[in-house]
Amino acid sequence: MQSFFERSIEFLKGVGPQRAVLLNKELNIFKYGDLLQHYPFRYEDRTKFYKVNQIREEQPFIQIVGKFISFQKIGDGRKQRLVGIFGDETGTIELVWFQGIKWVLERVRTGVPYVVFGKPTRFGSKYNIAHPEVEPVSERSKQGAYLHPVYHTSEKLKRKFIDSKTISKMMKMLLVDAVNHIHETLPPHILQQYHLMDKKSAVVQIHFPKTSQDLQKARYRLKFEELFYIQLRLLKLKITRIDSFPGIRFDNSELLNTYYKEHLPFELTDAQKRVVKEIYQDFRSGKQMNRLVQGDVGSGKTMVAFLSMLIAISNGTQCAFMAPTEILAEQHYKGLKEYADLLGIHIARLTGSSKKSERKVIDQMLQSGDLPIVVGTHALLEDKVKFNNLGLAVIDEQHRFGVAQRARLWKKGNNAYPHVLVMTATPIPRTLAMTLYGDLDISVIDQLPAGRKPIKTYHMRDSHRLKMFGFIEKEIAKGRQVYIVYPLIEESSTLDLKDLMDGYESISRRFPDLQLSIVHGKMKPEDKEWEMQRFVKHETKIMVATTVIEVGVNVPNASIMVIENAERFGLSQLHQLRGRVGRGAEQSFCILMTGNKLTTEAKTRIQTMVDTTDGFKIAEVDLKLRGPGDLMGTQQSGLMDLMISDLGKDTEILKLARSVASNVLNADPELKSPENNLIRRQVDAQRKGTVNWSRIS
Ligand code: ADP
Ligand code: MG
Repeated sequence: MQSFFERSIEFLKGVGPQRAVLLNKELNIFKYGDLLQHYPFRYEDRTKFYKVNQIREEQPFIQIVGKFISFQKIGDGRKQRLVGIFGDETGTIELVWFQGIKWVLERVRTGVPYVVFGKPTRFGSKYNIAHPEVEPVSERSKQGAYLHPVYHTSEKLKRKFIDSKTISKMMKMLLVDAVNHIHETLPPHILQQYHLMDKKSAVVQIHFPKTSQDLQKARYRLKFEELFYIQLRLLKLKITRIDSFPGIRFDNSELLNTYYKEHLPFELTDAQKRVVKEIYQDFRSGKQMNRLVQGDVGSGKTMVAFLSMLIAISNGTQCAFMAPTEILAEQHYKGLKEYADLLGIHIARLTGSSKKSERKVIDQMLQSGDLPIVVGTHALLEDKVKFNNLGLAVIDEQHRFGVAQRARLWKKGNNAYPHVLVMTATPIPRTLAMTLYGDLDISVIDQLPAGRKPIKTYHMRDSHRLKMFGFIEKEIAKGRQVYIVYPLIEESSTLDLKDLMDGYESISRRFPDLQLSIVHGKMKPEDKEWEMQRFVKHETKIMVATTVIEVGVNVPNASIMVIENAERFGLSQLHQLRGRVGRGAEQSFCILMTGNKLTTEAKTRIQTMVDTTDGFKIAEVDLKLRGPGDLMGTQQSGLMDLMISDLGKDTEILKLARSVASNVLNADPELKSPENNLIRRQVDAQRKGTVNWSRIS
């Protein structure tokens, strides 16, 4: 039998086929359950009443009780407006209509008490409210005090008269029946212990709260539930993986030892040593490793990956090293080749632009097992790439690889699942990591190699451009190289490209004797590569670029990063870009150029960059400012279709949900005990793919 929540929204009274199509397209609402989970994004307070003399400009929507004293039409034709003088015993205010004047005049009378509701704006020394809601006091008092839900809609929906009010009417209609179908989804022992509101009340109260306390409890309950089931799923996944995915046991570390003794180019940091140890422990456990290594830019993740690969190769298996772009794959290939050559280990690269003949040779060698390391892009994931014995897959800069891609990699092993090492320089706050990658084990390289001088960061206004030019001129005279980066936002890329080109022009005029490089996303890969190489070889002193240089590029002599229009970048991107410098022995600088006018948020971002170089601190601020949505490819993770929780703000609930989920699973891994019946049913329903709305039924 089809559950109530699976019924098509079309059949809800007042919706019908046409509106249903609109709701599908604009709000992703297909079923009753989808509508129920279309939660209000804010509420208007209809619990308090204000006096006219209490009105302040900064107030949101307010309610006032009073009477109309007079109405007056002002102006003619299309510019006509209606002004009603409305007052209580403390004063008067103007209510203004630009449309529906006739309608108002026909219905609203002077001398009768009304409740008006709207947002006051200041007009000279007076306040007015445009297009207020007006309700006779007799009507309004039937409803009592409440919070009025405000729902997201779209311009298109509004044009078709589906505004927040219409949705709230649909919701009321739906809830009348829905309350008979909503069942509890959390067991009594959890509800009691954590004082959670019951499910039915929570769903009703989230849409039509009587008081803000009710609203708060309803929200808390729904957020807890959402996060609890995500954590439970992740923790279960982890348990299943450990139990049922045997990994290849790597006991031999011969090559690692040789390399360590004879070729290691520098002393490892303690953090690197610790992480290598953690990885080796996984390798020896006989279970498949799925480990995320987080380490700030420049913390030396590549070496950790290389050492891990040496262990895999010592045990007769092959390694795949995957980078997010061709440029990076190329750079990693060259870097790793230098290391590997010392041990006589064969290494090849495979990208989308590899020549057919090259490819054929590589494919053969991979299948015969004669190629121990292949470095490449996502081209490595293609089905036709077959390994003889893949033992370890390293994924650099994971935020572009999701769970699905990881799963494809797992399939590439023929006897057992290959170990997976994911590396990221986008530091993720623990809370978020727990949710996004709760099924991964996490290692952190929380230390930079010794001798690095912290990068000095300055904020400069565009008006001080000449000073900035003077500064980089001096540094170049000392033999350093400079990056100057321009934002490139996809949609307006021609415009941005013009910014970049104009910038390039003015830099060439200012430094006529210097060789410059330019790199941007619209260039052919060969041209990009050629320009990069000129910079790498010190032939050019300034690299003018878009964010294509964001990840991975390594030119230790480049010690200055100038970021133009820095206010247009997100924090994590600024941090990534800054990480391109500070890799050599010299003092490095980052100069953030901005316009004179900045939003509060932009100021916070810039100030954060000036104040700290700690990627984790920056990530915390970023998460608070933006929410987790943009932080990384969260959509891909398939876990982030959060209906109500906000990972940036609901940290405490998340921690609680995780610890409760973990306690439940520790005590009852199979969820067999009767007291966990509800949980098991819920988890089963989710597994069947009835994910979203099934949380309600
Ligand atoms: P990331 O973690 O950003 O990927 P890399 O692996 O590219 O960092 O390392 C950055 C630079 O630091 C490289 O030039 C690398 O050779 C160097 N490096 C890595 N580990 C150490 C270390 N322990 N001591 C000195 N230099 C190191
Ligand atoms: Mg790297």
